[in-house]
Amino acid sequence: MSLPRILSGIKPSGKLHIGNYLGALKNFVALQNSGAHECFYMVADLHSLTEKFDPKKKRQEILDLVIDYVAIGLDPEKSVLFVQSMLPEHAELTWIFDVLTPVASLERMTQYKDFVARGHSANVGLFTYPVLQAVDILLYKPAAVPVGEDQIQHLELTNDIAKKFNAAFGKTFEPVKTLLTKTPRVMSLLEPDKKMSKSLGEAHVINLSDEPEVIEKKLARAVTDTGMEKHISAGTKNLLGLLEIFGEPKQYEFYMEARGKGTIRYTDLKKNLAKIIAHHFADYRSKRKELEKQPDYIMEVIATGREKAAAVAAATLREVKEKIGLVL
Ligand code: ADP
Repeated sequence: MSLPRILSGIKPSGKLHIGNYLGALKNFVALQNSGAHECFYMVADLHSLTEKFDPKKKRQEILDLVIDYVAIGLDPEKSVLFVQSMLPEHAELTWIFDVLTPVASLERMTQYKDFVARGHSANVGLFTYPVLQAVDILLYKPAAVPVGEDQIQHLELTNDIAKKFNAAFGKTFEPVKTLLTKTPRVMSLLEPDKKMSKSLGEAHVINLSDEPEVIEKKLARAVTDTGMEKHISAGTKNLLGLLEIFGEPKQYEFYMEARGKGTIRYTDLKKNLAKIIAHHFADYRSKRKELEKQPDYIMEVIATGREKAAAVAAATLREVKEKIGLVL
């Protein structure tokens, strides 16, 4: 019997940060290593085109994300690591799902609404972003999708589209479960009321590849409170949350107790936290540097992933086309 399948992806648009790690990547690795799942992890390069990008950098960004996947612990022998744009099935099924999706459903999507509310004029790709995401998922018929909290709404739309397709053309897709981690929403260091995101700027995020000195500098500037108020501020909560995840329980308890007594020293907490985070990703950093010297291996990983993903994607697309009368 085949194992329940997992599917997820990340956009290749620069360095990964600890929000991506704690919200998604850490789970990608754990699910792979559980041995209880068949895992497909995608480089969402088509999605990344909805943001401003430099065509001279895009190829490298794609390769970098594959390197990141392997460096953080995804094993190409265990998981299927593939690049979205290498499979034309994604674009083809998007058209079919587009005609099933009401404009009003997409107008409700927070990611799109926020972008427009910030005064930007959105391209059609950004508007239909969640449809492409539904395609990415349903093409592989996974049981569950590990993502951060910001993706819940998109996953709901995916299930709506699946239901609509089933109702119109016959049962084809099962409902997909959303898998969140214990930290589904890591906040920005400088504006802790917003989620950590590279779009806010470098000083807001801790990248997995940041050297220890860089992490120390960024944390030194992180927003906290005075340490005396009754209410722990969002910024302090974020840092203590990171300590809870990355540190030893007794370190977390020490600072929580100090915060309760009003004796907490934030410079001290930040220095310790920087050390702990830098240490956590030391292996990743050195593995990443090794992999950068092995472009042939990375291309091999991509080719193998494409082949395995294509077998599944082609079968689903064929089934869909048959159901809607497009196979002559
Ligand atoms: P970004 O939001 O930085 O552009 P992506 O949209 O490619 O990154 O997100 C990749 C994955 O990381 C998604 O599953 C998303 O939910 C998760 N993620 C992104 N930012 C955070 C965050 N601040 N906290 C938790 N998870 C996050």
